[in-house]
Amino acid sequence: MKLDITRGIQSKGIEVPFELEEPWGEDRWGGDTIAYVRPVRLSGKYMITGDTVVVNGTADTAVESRCARCLAPTVTEVRAEVSEAFVRDKGEEKKSLEEEQYTYQGHVLDLTDAVRTSVLLEVPVRVFCREDCRGLCPQCGTNLNFSQCSCQKDLTRRNPFSALATRIEFEEDSHMLKQDEEV
Ligand SMILES: [Zn+2]
Ligand SMILES: [Zn+2]
Repeated sequence: MKLDITRGIQSKGIEVPFELEEPWGEDRWGGDTIAYVRPVRLSGKYMITGDTVVVNGTADTAVESRCARCLAPTVTEVRAEVSEAFVRDKGEEKKSLEEEQYTYQGHVLDLTDAVRTSVLLEVPVRVFCREDCRGLCPQCGTNLNFSQCSCQKDLTRRNPFSALATRIEFEEDSHMLKQDEEV
């Protein structure tokens, strides 16, 4: 994602509006692969003062990742503020610049890293296809949003609380029995 700053060089100290659009492929995020399903659009302004270019803009796109519960492809709209300063790379002065500092050479700024960092910060690590996604059965893998499996019934049968209920019933019965004996 490259920004031609020729206009800004010709008129330093003046805000220059710009608009960029670029299709991005895939990215790694949260230990998984996400795909940009819409080109990344960045619109904003930049201004050059001395050797520094300050860029302010808004990036928007949409990414597809997998639902954290059922793994279904899920699209998330992303809108991110991008606000970065780029310092002209003059080679020999490189050492004095902070490592995190974005640089540029000539009349072209490469905004990719800055935009990517801002965009990824807005992408949740865990997304859900819908708020009440029921996920996959941990035993047989059935997608519980679409069908039921019998594992859940087995679980209820083995539920410790139902076992407890049976014992209480039994104890009550034996207590009753005792009372009968006493009479
Ligand atoms: Zn889901
Ligand atoms: Zn199951």
